[in-house]
Amino acid sequence: MAERRRYWNMEVEQILNTPEMRDLQWSRMKNKMEALYEGASFWRSRMEKAGVTPEQVRTWDDFTDRIPVLTKEEFREYVDECESDMTRIIEGWMGEEANRLVCIAATSGTTGTPTPYSLNKGDLDIWTEFTSRALWRIGIYPGDRVLQAFGLSMFLAGVPMCMSIADYGACSIPVGAEAGTERVLSYAKLFRPKAMMCTPSLAEYMIERAPTSLGEGVDALTLEAVICGGEPGAGIPEVRRKIEEAYGAKLFDLGAGLGCSCDYPEYQGMHWLADDLVMMELVDQESHEPIPIEDGAVGLAVFTTLAGTALLGFRQTIGDIMEVHTSPCSCGGSGFRYRVIGRTDDMLKVKGVMIYPPAIEGVVNKFVPRVTGEFRIVLDEPPPRVVPPLKLKIEFGEGVEPGELESLAEEICEEMHRAVKIRPQITWLKPKTLERFTKKKKLMEKAYEKKSR
Ligand SMILES: [Zn+2]
Repeated sequence: MAERRRYWNMEVEQILNTPEMRDLQWSRMKNKMEALYEGASFWRSRMEKAGVTPEQVRTWDDFTDRIPVLTKEEFREYVDECESDMTRIIEGWMGEEANRLVCIAATSGTTGTPTPYSLNKGDLDIWTEFTSRALWRIGIYPGDRVLQAFGLSMFLAGVPMCMSIADYGACSIPVGAEAGTERVLSYAKLFRPKAMMCTPSLAEYMIERAPTSLGEGVDALTLEAVICGGEPGAGIPEVRRKIEEAYGAKLFDLGAGLGCSCDYPEYQGMHWLADDLVMMELVDQESHEPIPIEDGAVGLAVFTTLAGTALLGFRQTIGDIMEVHTSPCSCGGSGFRYRVIGRTDDMLKVKGVMIYPPAIEGVVNKFVPRVTGEFRIVLDEPPPRVVPPLKLKIEFGEGVEPGELESLAEEICEEMHRAVKIRPQITWLKPKTLERFTKKKKLMEKAYEKKSR
């Protein structure tokens, strides 16, 4: 067989994160800005409110100074202003293109009204191009089978992912997290996919369920790749090791933007694969001042869609705090790397120290199998402020004797102090006490809500 080319898109992927790409981004950004100003009332009114017209944006500095960052809260306000009229929301967002939709996904918000995410053909093409680049790098080629076990109603990871896999020429097997763990396991056994896509929570839970449900371990599924997204677990070295060992497959971390991790044995973050389709920037979480994409930079990720309509918005954030690395990756692949450190919603402040749950998850998982890896952060008052000590409920592992728990707690506290500068208060739970999640994990237990009831 002839050797495969390195990238799916040789023309673009070789110039990711280069000055040449920056020029391409500039011209696409200008076009996009003009199109949104002319055609989409939501974006036009934001620019009007900010007192800026597309002609006044002449440099990248103008762009970051004058185009405001759209936060999650503002997006939510817009949905409320439209009185949850889905047609109005979508029309304001994409103008005329709202008449040419191919898919609407909706996620339920905290208020219970779903937030619509709509795609026309151009938007789906962005997602297909990204999916193709990612799958090619992962080693999933046209003709291969991919079991799709993300929630099918999820925005881009759901049905749009199935459509994109088909467009790429691979075979998607949609089962969806909604079907439940048993069915996902049985589909994986029956259809023999080369890869499975799901949240890391589901991948972890399947490890626990497989022996009872299938009568054998998940390694018997002979998957070559587990492709995770939707939450940071796949980027946590200990969670990663656990999943890779159990499945005997490589674990890839996908998403939180248009990127995918590489097959280098140690996690290097995700490579941003689509500078030409969506531009990523970092800004300060509070002031929204730009932070240059440099080795080790940390900030709030902001996206600007450069093709299609406004798939990921125009300077929009979904609240992910990311760390980026621009030095060449040991895998040799192109694209700067980013890792999700946490989400603005999940940030905790313990005596002024900012902590994100994935960091705690990382420490807890270092102690597997003496712990199961499942835990909860118990909050006595609304976040982010936490009066120390931070309270954790942790499940101890099967076969751990009660007499060992005190010293184990001490070891975890020591490691927690080393890694995140806090000493938590640990309450032990028996294995399999905590609820398992097949979609997104809920690591926070809001004890204050129970109190006020
Ligand atoms: Zn790499």
